[in-house]
Amino acid sequence: MVTGTSLSDVFPLGSRVNELGRLEVGGCDTLELAREFGTPAYVVAEEDLRARARAFLAAGAAAGQADFHVVFASKAFPCTAVLALFAQEGLWCDVASGGELHLALGAGFPPARIVVHGNAKSEAELRAALAHRVGLIVLDNFDEIDRLERLLGERVDAADAQPVLVRVTPDVEGETHEKISTGQADSKFGFSLAQAREALARVREHGGLSLRGLHAHIGSQLLTLEPFARAAEELAKLGEFPVWDLGGGLGVRYTSAQAPPPSIERYVQQIVHAARSHGQGGEHRLLIEPGRALSANAGVTLYTVQSVKQNVSRWVAVDGGMSDNLRPMLYGAPYEAHVADRLEGTTPCVLAGKHCESGDVIAREALLDDPRPGDVIVTPATGAYGYAMANNYNGAPRPPVIFAREGDAREVVRRESFEDLTARDVG
Ligand SMILES: *Cc1c(COP(=O)(O)O)cnc(C)c1O
Repeated sequence: MVTGTSLSDVFPLGSRVNELGRLEVGGCDTLELAREFGTPAYVVAEEDLRARARAFLAAGAAAGQADFHVVFASKAFPCTAVLALFAQEGLWCDVASGGELHLALGAGFPPARIVVHGNAKSEAELRAALAHRVGLIVLDNFDEIDRLERLLGERVDAADAQPVLVRVTPDVEGETHEKISTGQADSKFGFSLAQAREALARVREHGGLSLRGLHAHIGSQLLTLEPFARAAEELAKLGEFPVWDLGGGLGVRYTSAQAPPPSIERYVQQIVHAARSHGQGGEHRLLIEPGRALSANAGVTLYTVQSVKQNVSRWVAVDGGMSDNLRPMLYGAPYEAHVADRLEGTTPCVLAGKHCESGDVIAREALLDDPRPGDVIVTPATGAYGYAMANNYNGAPRPPVIFAREGDAREVVRRESFEDLTARDVG
Protein backbone atom coordinates (compact mmCIF):
# COMPACT_ATOMS: atom_id res chain seq x y z
CA MET A 1 0.00 0.00 0.00
CA VAL A 2 1.38 3.35 -0.99
CA THR A 3 2.14 5.80 1.80
CA GLY A 4 -0.50 8.49 2.17
CA THR A 5 -3.11 6.67 0.12
CA SER A 6 -6.56 6.91 1.59
CA LEU A 7 -8.02 3.66 2.83
CA SER A 8 -11.27 1.87 2.13
CA ASP A 9 -14.34 3.49 3.71
CA VAL A 10 -14.52 0.54 6.10
CA PHE A 11 -11.96 2.56 8.10
CA PRO A 12 -12.87 5.78 9.93
CA LEU A 13 -12.96 8.95 7.83
CA GLY A 14 -9.51 10.50 7.56
CA SER A 15 -7.63 7.25 8.23
CA ARG A 16 -4.41 6.88 6.27
CA VAL A 17 -1.11 5.07 6.10
CA ASN A 18 1.59 7.40 7.44
CA GLU A 19 5.22 7.86 6.38
CA LEU A 20 6.24 4.91 8.58
CA GLY A 21 3.77 2.67 6.78
CA ARG A 22 1.51 2.53 9.83
CA LEU A 23 -2.22 2.99 10.06
CA GLU A 24 -3.24 6.37 11.38
CA VAL A 25 -6.73 6.94 12.83
CA GLY A 26 -7.86 10.42 13.82
CA GLY A 27 -4.33 11.59 13.05
CA CYS A 28 -2.86 9.14 15.61
CA ASP A 29 -0.37 6.40 14.81
CA THR A 30 -2.05 3.14 15.86
CA LEU A 31 1.24 1.56 16.98
CA GLU A 32 1.81 4.48 19.30
CA LEU A 33 -1.76 4.20 20.57
CA ALA A 34 -1.19 0.51 21.29
CA ARG A 35 2.01 1.35 23.17
CA GLU A 36 0.41 4.17 25.15
CA PHE A 37 -2.94 2.62 26.03
CA GLY A 38 -2.28 -1.11 25.68
CA THR A 39 -4.40 -3.63 23.79
CA PRO A 40 -7.09 -4.60 23.22
CA ALA A 41 -8.41 -1.07 22.81
CA TYR A 42 -11.31 0.57 21.01
CA VAL A 43 -10.10 3.59 19.04
CA VAL A 44 -12.72 6.04 17.81
CA ALA A 45 -12.17 8.85 15.31
CA GLU A 46 -14.10 11.66 16.92
CA GLU A 47 -14.45 13.65 13.71
CA ASP A 48 -15.97 10.63 11.98
CA LEU A 49 -18.80 10.48 14.53
CA ARG A 50 -19.43 14.19 14.09
CA ALA A 51 -19.33 14.00 10.31
CA ARG A 52 -21.91 11.22 10.21
CA ALA A 53 -24.24 13.03 12.63
CA ARG A 54 -24.00 16.14 10.45
CA ALA A 55 -24.53 14.12 7.27
CA PHE A 56 -27.81 12.73 8.61
CA LEU A 57 -29.06 16.17 9.65
CA ALA A 58 -27.97 17.78 6.39
CA ALA A 59 -29.68 15.03 4.42
CA GLY A 60 -32.96 15.74 6.18
CA ALA A 61 -32.68 19.42 5.35
CA ALA A 62 -31.71 18.64 1.74
CA ALA A 63 -34.76 16.42 1.42
CA GLY A 64 -36.91 19.37 2.53
CA GLN A 65 -38.03 17.82 5.81
CA ALA A 66 -38.08 20.70 8.27
CA ASP A 67 -39.25 18.75 11.32
CA PHE A 68 -36.69 15.94 11.13
CA HIS A 69 -34.77 14.45 14.04
CA VAL A 70 -31.99 11.90 14.22
CA VAL A 71 -32.26 9.71 17.29
CA PHE A 72 -29.04 7.84 18.11
CA ALA A 73 -29.80 4.25 19.12
CA SER A 74 -27.63 4.40 22.21
CA LYS A 75 -27.34 0.63 22.53
CA ALA A 76 -24.89 0.74 19.60
CA PHE A 77 -22.27 2.59 21.70
CA PRO A 78 -23.55 3.30 25.22
CA CYS A 79 -20.63 5.33 26.50
CA THR A 80 -20.89 8.83 27.96
CA ALA A 81 -18.32 10.42 25.63
CA VAL A 82 -20.08 9.13 22.51
CA LEU A 83 -23.50 10.14 23.81
CA ALA A 84 -22.25 13.58 24.89
CA LEU A 85 -20.78 14.15 21.42
CA PHE A 86 -24.07 13.29 19.73
CA ALA A 87 -26.03 15.40 22.25
CA GLN A 88 -23.75 18.30 21.34
CA GLU A 89 -24.38 17.71 17.63
CA GLY A 90 -28.10 18.14 18.26
CA LEU A 91 -29.16 14.51 17.95
CA TRP A 92 -31.82 12.84 20.06
CA CYS A 93 -31.23 9.61 21.95
CA ASP A 94 -33.03 6.26 21.96
CA VAL A 95 -32.82 4.27 25.18
CA ALA A 96 -34.19 0.81 25.90
CA SER A 97 -33.61 0.44 29.63
CA GLY A 98 -33.27 2.34 32.88
CA GLY A 99 -29.50 2.06 32.53
CA GLU A 100 -29.46 3.60 29.07
CA LEU A 101 -31.80 6.37 30.28
CA HIS A 102 -29.35 7.07 33.11
CA LEU A 103 -26.45 7.21 30.62
CA ALA A 104 -28.34 9.50 28.22
CA LEU A 105 -29.33 11.95 30.94
CA GLY A 106 -25.83 11.92 32.39
CA ALA A 107 -24.36 12.64 28.95
CA GLY A 108 -26.47 15.77 28.67
CA PHE A 109 -29.42 14.86 26.47
CA PRO A 110 -32.37 17.06 27.43
CA PRO A 111 -35.19 14.68 28.46
CA ALA A 112 -37.37 16.11 25.68
CA ARG A 113 -34.91 14.59 23.15
CA ILE A 114 -35.04 11.11 24.68
CA VAL A 115 -37.14 8.28 23.19
CA VAL A 116 -37.81 5.35 25.53
CA HIS A 117 -38.07 1.87 24.02
CA GLY A 118 -38.34 -1.65 25.36
CA ASN A 119 -40.51 -4.74 25.06
CA ALA A 120 -40.30 -5.44 28.81
CA LYS A 121 -40.18 -2.06 30.48
CA SER A 122 -40.37 -2.45 34.25
CA GLU A 123 -42.48 -0.31 36.49
CA ALA A 124 -39.30 1.36 37.77
CA GLU A 125 -38.20 2.15 34.21
CA LEU A 126 -41.59 3.62 33.33
CA ARG A 127 -41.61 5.66 36.54
CA ALA A 128 -38.17 7.06 35.70
CA ALA A 129 -39.26 7.93 32.15
CA LEU A 130 -42.35 9.74 33.46
CA ALA A 131 -40.48 11.49 36.25
CA HIS A 132 -37.92 12.88 33.81
CA ARG A 133 -40.67 13.77 31.32
CA VAL A 134 -38.96 12.13 28.37
CA GLY A 135 -39.91 13.27 24.89
CA LEU A 136 -41.55 10.02 23.86
CA ILE A 137 -42.32 6.60 25.27
CA VAL A 138 -42.76 3.98 22.56
CA LEU A 139 -45.53 1.59 23.60
CA ASP A 140 -44.80 -2.03 22.86
CA ASN A 141 -47.61 -4.13 24.38
CA PHE A 142 -50.95 -4.01 26.20
CA ASP A 143 -49.47 -4.84 29.61
CA GLU A 144 -47.30 -1.77 29.35
CA ILE A 145 -50.30 0.42 28.50
CA ASP A 146 -52.05 -0.96 31.62
CA ARG A 147 -48.99 -0.27 33.75
CA LEU A 148 -48.64 3.28 32.41
CA GLU A 149 -52.33 3.98 32.95
CA ARG A 150 -51.93 2.87 36.55
CA LEU A 151 -48.84 5.00 37.08
CA LEU A 152 -50.50 7.98 35.44
CA GLY A 153 -53.72 7.54 37.40
CA GLU A 154 -53.61 11.02 38.86
CA ARG A 155 -52.10 12.80 35.87
CA VAL A 156 -55.20 13.76 33.88
CA ASP A 157 -54.40 17.33 32.93
CA ALA A 158 -53.99 17.21 29.14
CA ALA A 159 -51.12 19.71 29.22
CA ASP A 160 -49.33 17.30 31.50
CA ALA A 161 -49.89 14.15 29.42
CA GLN A 162 -46.97 11.88 28.48
CA PRO A 163 -46.35 11.86 24.71
CA VAL A 164 -46.28 8.31 23.30
CA LEU A 165 -45.88 6.43 20.05
CA VAL A 166 -47.34 3.00 19.29
CA ARG A 167 -44.79 0.52 17.97
CA VAL A 168 -46.07 -1.44 15.01
CA THR A 169 -44.51 -4.51 13.41
CA PRO A 170 -45.58 -3.96 9.83
CA ASP A 171 -44.79 -7.54 8.71
CA VAL A 172 -42.03 -6.41 6.40
CA GLU A 173 -38.92 -8.53 6.39
CA GLY A 174 -35.63 -6.92 5.65
CA GLU A 175 -32.99 -9.20 4.17
CA THR A 176 -30.84 -9.57 7.23
CA HIS A 177 -29.88 -11.98 9.97
CA GLU A 178 -32.84 -13.55 11.78
CA LYS A 179 -31.60 -12.37 15.18
CA ILE A 180 -31.59 -8.71 14.11
CA SER A 181 -34.76 -8.82 12.02
CA THR A 182 -37.63 -7.24 13.93
CA GLY A 183 -40.39 -6.30 11.50
CA GLN A 184 -42.02 -9.71 10.96
CA ALA A 185 -45.57 -10.28 12.29
CA ASP A 186 -44.49 -12.87 14.87
CA SER A 187 -41.97 -10.59 16.55
CA LYS A 188 -41.24 -10.06 20.21
CA PHE A 189 -41.41 -6.32 19.49
CA GLY A 190 -44.49 -4.15 19.13
CA PHE A 191 -48.07 -4.64 17.99
CA SER A 192 -49.20 -6.34 14.82
CA LEU A 193 -51.17 -4.10 12.50
CA ALA A 194 -54.44 -5.57 13.76
CA GLN A 195 -53.53 -5.16 17.45
CA ALA A 196 -52.24 -1.66 16.80
CA ARG A 197 -55.78 -0.43 16.09
CA GLU A 198 -56.87 -1.60 19.53
CA ALA A 199 -53.77 -0.13 21.15
CA LEU A 200 -54.41 3.23 19.48
CA ALA A 201 -58.01 3.22 20.72
CA ARG A 202 -56.88 2.41 24.26
CA VAL A 203 -54.29 5.18 24.26
CA ARG A 204 -56.79 7.71 22.90
CA GLU A 205 -59.14 6.93 25.77
CA HIS A 206 -56.54 7.72 28.39
CA GLY A 207 -56.10 11.35 29.40
CA GLY A 208 -52.65 10.80 30.85
CA LEU A 209 -51.23 9.70 27.49
CA SER A 210 -50.86 11.97 24.51
CA LEU A 211 -50.87 9.89 21.33
CA ARG A 212 -48.31 11.41 18.96
CA GLY A 213 -47.98 8.70 16.34
CA LEU A 214 -46.41 5.47 15.18
CA HIS A 215 -43.05 3.75 15.38
CA ALA A 216 -41.61 0.94 13.27
CA HIS A 217 -38.12 -0.54 13.30
CA ILE A 218 -38.00 -3.27 10.71
CA GLY A 219 -34.55 -4.62 11.38
CA SER A 220 -30.85 -3.92 11.24
CA GLN A 221 -28.01 -4.02 8.73
CA LEU A 222 -30.45 -3.41 5.84
CA LEU A 223 -28.66 -2.92 2.55
CA THR A 224 -31.64 -2.07 0.36
CA LEU A 225 -34.18 0.69 0.86
CA GLU A 226 -37.40 -0.95 -0.41
CA PRO A 227 -38.32 -2.42 3.00
CA PHE A 228 -38.61 1.12 4.41
CA ALA A 229 -41.08 2.10 1.70
CA ARG A 230 -43.11 -1.05 2.36
CA ALA A 231 -43.12 -0.34 6.10
CA ALA A 232 -44.41 3.19 5.40
CA GLU A 233 -47.16 1.76 3.23
CA GLU A 234 -48.26 -0.52 6.08
CA LEU A 235 -48.12 2.22 8.73
CA ALA A 236 -50.22 4.52 6.56
CA LYS A 237 -53.11 2.05 6.89
CA LEU A 238 -53.47 3.22 10.50
CA GLY A 239 -54.14 6.84 9.53
CA GLU A 240 -52.31 10.15 9.65
CA PHE A 241 -50.35 11.20 12.76
CA PRO A 242 -48.26 14.17 13.91
CA VAL A 243 -45.20 11.93 14.31
CA TRP A 244 -43.68 8.95 12.56
CA ASP A 245 -40.53 7.28 13.82
CA LEU A 246 -39.22 4.91 11.18
CA GLY A 247 -36.54 3.31 13.36
CA GLY A 248 -32.95 2.54 12.48
CA GLY A 249 -31.42 -0.22 10.45
CA LEU A 250 -29.33 1.35 7.70
CA GLY A 251 -26.57 -1.17 7.05
CA VAL A 252 -22.86 -0.46 7.08
CA ARG A 253 -19.84 -1.94 5.38
CA TYR A 254 -17.88 -4.25 7.69
CA THR A 255 -15.35 -5.41 5.09
CA SER A 256 -14.01 -3.93 1.86
CA ALA A 257 -15.23 -7.05 0.08
CA GLN A 258 -18.84 -6.13 0.81
CA ALA A 259 -20.76 -3.85 -1.54
CA PRO A 260 -21.19 -0.34 -0.13
CA PRO A 261 -24.56 0.22 1.57
CA PRO A 262 -26.88 3.01 0.40
CA SER A 263 -25.42 6.38 1.38
CA ILE A 264 -26.81 8.34 4.34
CA GLU A 265 -28.10 10.92 1.84
CA ARG A 266 -29.97 8.40 -0.29
CA TYR A 267 -31.36 6.60 2.74
CA VAL A 268 -32.72 9.79 4.31
CA GLN A 269 -34.11 10.97 0.99
CA GLN A 270 -35.94 7.64 0.57
CA ILE A 271 -37.28 7.70 4.13
CA VAL A 272 -38.58 11.25 3.67
CA HIS A 273 -40.06 10.30 0.31
CA ALA A 274 -41.70 7.16 1.75
CA ALA A 275 -43.32 9.18 4.54
CA ARG A 276 -44.41 11.97 2.24
CA SER A 277 -45.96 9.68 -0.33
CA HIS A 278 -48.10 8.19 2.43
CA GLY A 279 -49.57 11.41 3.71
CA GLN A 280 -46.86 12.18 6.28
CA GLY A 281 -45.57 15.32 4.58
CA GLY A 282 -43.49 18.32 5.59
CA GLU A 283 -45.91 19.55 8.25
CA HIS A 284 -45.40 16.30 10.19
CA ARG A 285 -42.49 15.31 12.41
CA LEU A 286 -40.24 12.52 11.17
CA LEU A 287 -37.75 10.64 13.34
CA ILE A 288 -35.16 8.02 12.42
CA GLU A 289 -33.03 6.00 14.85
CA PRO A 290 -29.69 5.06 13.32
CA GLY A 291 -27.30 3.11 15.53
CA ARG A 292 -24.55 1.39 13.60
CA ALA A 293 -24.75 3.83 10.68
CA LEU A 294 -23.59 6.56 13.07
CA SER A 295 -20.81 4.72 14.87
CA ALA A 296 -19.69 1.38 13.39
CA ASN A 297 -17.16 2.72 10.89
CA ALA A 298 -15.89 5.39 13.27
CA GLY A 299 -14.19 2.77 15.43
CA VAL A 300 -11.43 0.19 15.12
CA THR A 301 -10.10 -2.32 17.63
CA LEU A 302 -6.40 -2.78 18.27
CA TYR A 303 -5.06 -6.15 19.41
CA THR A 304 -1.61 -7.63 19.89
CA VAL A 305 -0.67 -10.99 18.37
CA GLN A 306 0.25 -13.53 21.08
CA SER A 307 0.87 -16.65 19.03
CA VAL A 308 0.93 -17.88 15.45
CA LYS A 309 0.61 -21.54 14.56
CA GLN A 310 0.04 -23.54 11.45
CA ASN A 311 -2.01 -26.74 11.30
CA VAL A 312 -4.63 -26.94 8.58
CA SER A 313 -4.99 -23.17 8.85
CA ARG A 314 -2.67 -20.48 10.01
CA TRP A 315 -4.00 -19.46 13.42
CA VAL A 316 -3.18 -15.98 14.64
CA ALA A 317 -4.25 -15.56 18.27
CA VAL A 318 -4.69 -12.11 19.80
CA ASP A 319 -5.23 -10.71 23.29
CA GLY A 320 -8.99 -10.13 22.90
CA GLY A 321 -11.89 -11.81 21.12
CA MET A 322 -15.45 -12.57 22.14
CA SER A 323 -15.06 -10.46 25.29
CA ASP A 324 -14.71 -7.30 23.16
CA ASN A 325 -16.53 -8.24 19.93
CA LEU A 326 -19.36 -10.75 20.15
CA ARG A 327 -20.81 -10.07 16.73
CA PRO A 328 -18.91 -12.74 14.80
CA MET A 329 -20.08 -15.37 17.31
CA LEU A 330 -23.68 -14.09 17.59
CA TYR A 331 -24.41 -13.35 13.96
CA GLY A 332 -21.55 -14.79 11.97
CA ALA A 333 -20.65 -11.16 11.25
CA PRO A 334 -17.61 -10.79 8.97
CA TYR A 335 -14.63 -8.60 9.83
CA GLU A 336 -11.40 -7.86 8.04
CA ALA A 337 -8.08 -7.52 9.81
CA HIS A 338 -4.70 -5.98 9.11
CA VAL A 339 -1.27 -5.82 10.66
CA ALA A 340 -1.21 -2.14 11.68
CA ASP A 341 2.17 -1.40 10.08
CA ARG A 342 1.87 -3.73 7.07
CA LEU A 343 -1.71 -3.24 6.00
CA GLU A 344 -1.66 -5.12 2.76
CA GLY A 345 -1.45 -8.84 3.39
CA THR A 346 -1.94 -11.94 1.29
CA THR A 347 -1.53 -14.80 3.77
CA PRO A 348 -4.91 -16.35 4.64
CA CYS A 349 -5.14 -16.53 8.43
CA VAL A 350 -7.78 -17.30 11.02
CA LEU A 351 -7.79 -14.46 13.51
CA ALA A 352 -8.67 -16.13 16.80
CA GLY A 353 -9.41 -14.68 20.22
CA LYS A 354 -7.95 -15.77 23.55
CA HIS A 355 -11.10 -17.29 25.01
CA CYS A 356 -11.83 -20.91 25.86
CA GLU A 357 -14.26 -21.53 23.00
CA SER A 358 -13.55 -22.86 19.52
CA GLY A 359 -16.10 -20.36 18.27
CA ASP A 360 -13.98 -17.47 19.50
CA VAL A 361 -12.86 -16.43 16.03
CA ILE A 362 -12.86 -12.75 15.09
CA ALA A 363 -12.16 -13.17 11.36
CA ARG A 364 -12.14 -16.49 9.59
CA GLU A 365 -10.59 -15.25 6.36
CA ALA A 366 -8.15 -12.54 7.31
CA LEU A 367 -5.43 -11.73 4.77
CA LEU A 368 -2.42 -10.70 6.82
CA ASP A 369 1.19 -9.86 6.01
CA ASP A 370 3.27 -12.50 7.77
CA PRO A 371 1.90 -11.87 11.28
CA ARG A 372 4.28 -12.44 14.19
CA PRO A 373 3.89 -12.29 17.96
CA GLY A 374 4.00 -8.66 19.09
CA ASP A 375 2.42 -7.31 15.90
CA VAL A 376 -0.48 -4.93 16.39
CA ILE A 377 -3.61 -6.09 14.57
CA VAL A 378 -6.43 -3.75 13.65
CA THR A 379 -10.02 -4.74 12.91
CA PRO A 380 -12.02 -1.87 11.40
CA ALA A 381 -15.75 -1.19 11.73
CA THR A 382 -16.01 -2.12 15.40
CA GLY A 383 -17.59 1.14 16.58
CA ALA A 384 -21.06 -0.34 17.07
CA TYR A 385 -22.15 -3.16 19.39
CA GLY A 386 -18.55 -4.06 20.33
CA TYR A 387 -18.14 -1.97 23.46
CA ALA A 388 -21.87 -2.42 24.09
CA MET A 389 -21.67 -6.20 24.27
CA ALA A 390 -18.25 -6.42 25.91
CA ASN A 391 -18.05 -8.82 28.82
CA ASN A 392 -15.65 -10.32 31.34
CA TYR A 393 -15.50 -13.84 29.93
CA ASN A 394 -12.35 -15.60 31.16
CA GLY A 395 -11.84 -12.69 33.54
CA ALA A 396 -11.03 -10.35 30.67
CA PRO A 397 -11.00 -6.72 31.81
CA ARG A 398 -13.01 -4.72 29.29
CA PRO A 399 -10.92 -2.52 26.95
CA PRO A 400 -10.62 1.25 27.14
CA VAL A 401 -12.23 3.63 24.64
CA ILE A 402 -9.77 6.07 23.08
CA PHE A 403 -10.95 9.14 21.19
CA ALA A 404 -8.51 10.24 18.47
CA ARG A 405 -8.73 13.64 16.85
CA GLU A 406 -6.20 15.62 14.83
CA GLY A 407 -3.32 13.67 16.28
CA ASP A 408 -4.47 13.91 19.89
CA ALA A 409 -5.61 10.81 21.73
CA ARG A 410 -7.56 10.80 24.98
CA GLU A 411 -8.93 7.96 27.00
CA VAL A 412 -12.68 8.48 27.51
CA VAL A 413 -13.26 5.12 29.20
CA ARG A 414 -10.36 3.55 31.08
CA ARG A 415 -9.46 -0.11 30.85
CA GLU A 416 -11.04 -2.27 33.53
CA SER A 417 -8.64 -3.45 36.22
CA PHE A 418 -8.45 -6.80 37.99
CA GLU A 419 -9.80 -4.94 41.02
CA ASP A 420 -12.88 -4.04 38.98
CA LEU A 421 -13.48 -7.77 38.55
CA THR A 422 -13.99 -8.15 42.29
CA ALA A 423 -15.44 -4.70 42.97
CA ARG A 424 -19.00 -6.02 43.38
CA ASP A 425 -18.09 -8.89 45.68
CA VAL A 426 -19.93 -8.64 48.99
CA GLY A 427 -18.53 -9.97 52.26
C1 LIG B 1 -31.41 -1.60 17.44
C2 LIG B 1 -32.42 -0.54 17.18
C3 LIG B 1 -32.08 0.57 16.41
C4 LIG B 1 -30.74 0.74 15.74
O1 LIG B 1 -30.42 -0.28 14.87
P1 LIG B 1 -29.16 -0.10 13.90
O2 LIG B 1 -29.16 -1.31 13.05
O3 LIG B 1 -27.95 -0.06 14.75
O4 LIG B 1 -29.36 1.14 13.14
C5 LIG B 1 -33.02 1.57 16.27
N1 LIG B 1 -34.26 1.47 16.83
C6 LIG B 1 -34.61 0.40 17.57
C7 LIG B 1 -35.96 0.38 18.17
C8 LIG B 1 -33.71 -0.63 17.76
O5 LIG B 1 -34.07 -1.70 18.48
